Amino acid sequence: MQYFKLVYENDFDGLIEEIEEMKEYFRNKEINIGISEIMEGKTHFINIVFSDNNLNEKALNIFNLHISNILYKALIQEFNEKYITEFITETYFFLSLDELKEIKNISINVLKDDNLAINDNSIFYINNKNEIIKKILECIVNKEEINIDGFLTFRMKVLRDELEKVIDKVVEEYLIEKEYNEFIKLLKYFVEIQDSRIDIINILIEEDGSYHVLDKEGNDTMEDFVKDFMDNRISGSVNMEDILISGLITYCPEQIIIHGNKNCKNNEIINTIKNVFINRVHFCDECKMCSNLKDKSGVKR
Ligand SMILES: [Zn+2]
Repeated sequence: MQYFKLVYENDFDGLIEEIEEMKEYFRNKEINIGISEIMEGKTHFINIVFSDNNLNEKALNIFNLHISNILYKALIQEFNEKYITEFITETYFFLSLDELKEIKNISINVLKDDNLAINDNSIFYINNKNEIIKKILECIVNKEEINIDGFLTFRMKVLRDELEKVIDKVVEEYLIEKEYNEFIKLLKYFVEIQDSRIDIINILIEEDGSYHVLDKEGNDTMEDFVKDFMDNRISGSVNMEDILISGLITYCPEQIIIHGNKNCKNNEIINTIKNVFINRVHFCDECKMCSNLKDKSGVKR
């Protein structure tokens, strides 16, 4: 390929930047490309000419990837402008207007942003984006001309499904977080209205992630936690984290000191304790109990 033409009517964000970036990439590889733009009426024509007749396969792949990125961004823009509101309000009609608005904003950011914080969900989003770009790539290989508006009209129906999957995931995450926040609010309320039954609780986290709960004299309190928990238990499975939280809520300590936090295998539990007990929570890394933890793990102090 020596020649490529990009045609579009709508202004698409990031299109010029992507082209500049592509030009820069090829300049660094000592491959010259000439880019010129003309307008006829409202229609833009961007002509891309390679000085080299025989662009190698790698360079050609990079070129196609840049064009796919341009089309991906245009797709997102078109989807956000024309389809997202309708999809969200129809699919998630049971949510409040404020919630829908919030979900729309989050979704737009997720769809646009390529600098997502890394967690399980962002991996889903990145994979999904790559999947869409792969589909776009398949459409453009060996083409010498792409009309962006035409491409979007023709392909939107298929690609919309992929974008809607992203929004479904955003909503799922949003609802889980909302439920969690309500749970935290409830626990905080319990803690606020209750009198403390104990002044200090020490939580020791062993290297294997297991917990010990001691009062200020060093007596094991975990047994009491377990007993209380079992007495009040209705049904369902039990884990140490549930027992720990339940015990803390019941005893409502004035201070919670967490030793060996770096051994924790479940950050969620620590976050929950922090969110519920806020400034009653302290972290310690240097007391006798901490050095006992270290001695057991073989670290000399
Ligand atoms: Zn300590």
